[in-house]
Amino acid sequence: MSNFQTLDDVEHLIYGENLPVNVGMDIVNRCNVSCRMCGGALYVEEKGFDKYSRLGFDDIMKFFSDVQVSEITFVGSYSEPFMNRDIIPTSRKLIAHGAKVTVITNATLITRDLAEDIVRSGIHHIYVSIHGATKETAEFVMRGAKFDTVTQNLRNLIEIRCELGSRTPHVTMNMVLMRENIADAPKMIELARELGVDGVAFANMRLPDFQYEPESFTVSLITEDLDVSAKHLTEASNLAKEYGVALNIPQPLRPLLAG
Ligand code: SF4
Repeated sequence: MSNFQTLDDVEHLIYGENLPVNVGMDIVNRCNVSCRMCGGALYVEEKGFDKYSRLGFDDIMKFFSDVQVSEITFVGSYSEPFMNRDIIPTSRKLIAHGAKVTVITNATLITRDLAEDIVRSGIHHIYVSIHGATKETAEFVMRGAKFDTVTQNLRNLIEIRCELGSRTPHVTMNMVLMRENIADAPKMIELARELGVDGVAFANMRLPDFQYEPESFTVSLITEDLDVSAKHLTEASNLAKEYGVALNIPQPLRPLLAG
């Protein structure tokens, strides 16, 4: 049960007077990719789309008019934030109000024009979900994404950031590890170096909350083959050190690293 009894008890939290307030927000209920481990994608594959909905500029700003936030992450369970074009003007406004904006995206839609808008908007950090470091693996996991398009979009984003002399957005490639892509872990470090992104974050795959039909879940946990997973993860970690690529490995996977 909550310890808060009245609005006065929580008001300082809402206004962020004593604590930073970080908000994660879905601004559209669609993704243009269908990843094999994504609960939202599995839900859509099985049951079809829910009614389309998106938050426009005014909707989002209305929410934030009463909340002093320090950080906003446009994220989603089955949501591609750049499918909502209001993200750029909204981000600009929120940044002007002192918030840090982070976006989690599959990068399929980051054309050169959008890349320029992203850099000029002041968006602080972009996490790019890319679940394979080769065309074969990435397109197997991320059904509907084109690996060559995503990597070219990333190249353009980094190039435009450099041309405009901006330090932001920081770009991190985010790879959910599973048995089907673990062999690509070291190649992801190579790819990060080649593209010039700022880092790589590995995440351990979780089984989706959605009660999917068992045959629709076509990937498996890296724990199914621990020795092989440990070998690839260790190789990735060593390469990251050698190349100076910032690598985040989640705590539960660190015991797999040799040495
Ligand atoms: S890109 Fe992200 S939101 Fe879209 S299907 Fe893949 S995991 Fe789900």
